[in-house]
Amino acid sequence: MNLPEEITDLIELGAIFYCSHSGGKDSQVMYTRLRQVIPEKQLVVIHANLGEVEWPGVIDHIRRYVIHPFHIVKANKTFLGMVEARGMWPSAAYRQCTSDLKRGPIFKYIRNDLKERGATVAVNCIGLRAVESVARAKREPFRYNTQESVNGRVIRHVWDWLPIFDLSTAEVFQEIREAGEEPFWAYADGNERLSCVFCIMGSVNDLRHGAICNPDLYRRYVELEKQIGHTMFMKGKVPISLEDHVGIKIS
Ligand code: SF4
Repeated sequence: MNLPEEITDLIELGAIFYCSHSGGKDSQVMYTRLRQVIPEKQLVVIHANLGEVEWPGVIDHIRRYVIHPFHIVKANKTFLGMVEARGMWPSAAYRQCTSDLKRGPIFKYIRNDLKERGATVAVNCIGLRAVESVARAKREPFRYNTQESVNGRVIRHVWDWLPIFDLSTAEVFQEIREAGEEPFWAYADGNERLSCVFCIMGSVNDLRHGAICNPDLYRRYVELEKQIGHTMFMKGKVPISLEDHVGIKIS
C-alpha cells in the first residue's frame, strides 16, 4: 500500500491510528492494510457494538483476525430504543443511528484513550469507499476533523482518513483472500452490506437474507413499525411496510 505523505508524517509524529471495525468486508480489508504499515504501538481497533441489531458472531469474526488492542464501545441507548423514543426510523439523510450509536461512542473512546496515553494526535480510520454511493464519492479521503480537534487548555488534533477509498468491491474481496482471511459468512450467502441486520439503507436482498437468518429480530422490527406507525422504507413517495418491502409476512 502506498502511503500518502501526510500519513507518513503523522506516523513519525507518533499519531495513534484508530481503526473503526464493523466486522464487514471494508473494515476487514482496511485493517489488513493498516497492520502492514502502521507501527504496532500506534494502531488500535475499535468496534461500535450495536447489540441485538447487528449480525450475531460479528465480534468473534473481528477477534479471529485482529492482533492489535481491540476495544468494544457501546452507546448508552439501543437502536430499537432510539426508534421507539423518536417514533421514527432514521433515514439516509438523517442518520441518527450512525452518529449516536457509532461515531459518538468511537470519538468518546478516542478522546479518553488519547488522554490516558498523554498523546495529542489521532487518525480516525474509516472503511468508506467512493464506489458505494454518490455522496461517499464526494468525501475527502483525508481531512482535518475540526469538530473533534481542540487547541486550547486541552490539545487534540484529529484527522479522518479513508485508507480504502479507491478500492472496488472485487478488490476488497481479493485483498481479503490474499491476506489469507475470509470475510464474514453472510457475504457468501449474497449479503452486500453488514453491520445492522436490517439497515435503513439495506438492499431488499440483504433484508430478506437478514429476515430468513434472524426471524425473531425481524418480527421485532415489523412489530415496532406497526407500533410507531412509521415505516423504515418508502416506495416512491408512499410508505411501504417492512413485510411488503421484504416480501416476508410474519405469521
Ligand atoms: S448499519 Fe444502517 S441502520 Fe445500522 S447504524 Fe448503520 S446506517 Fe444505521
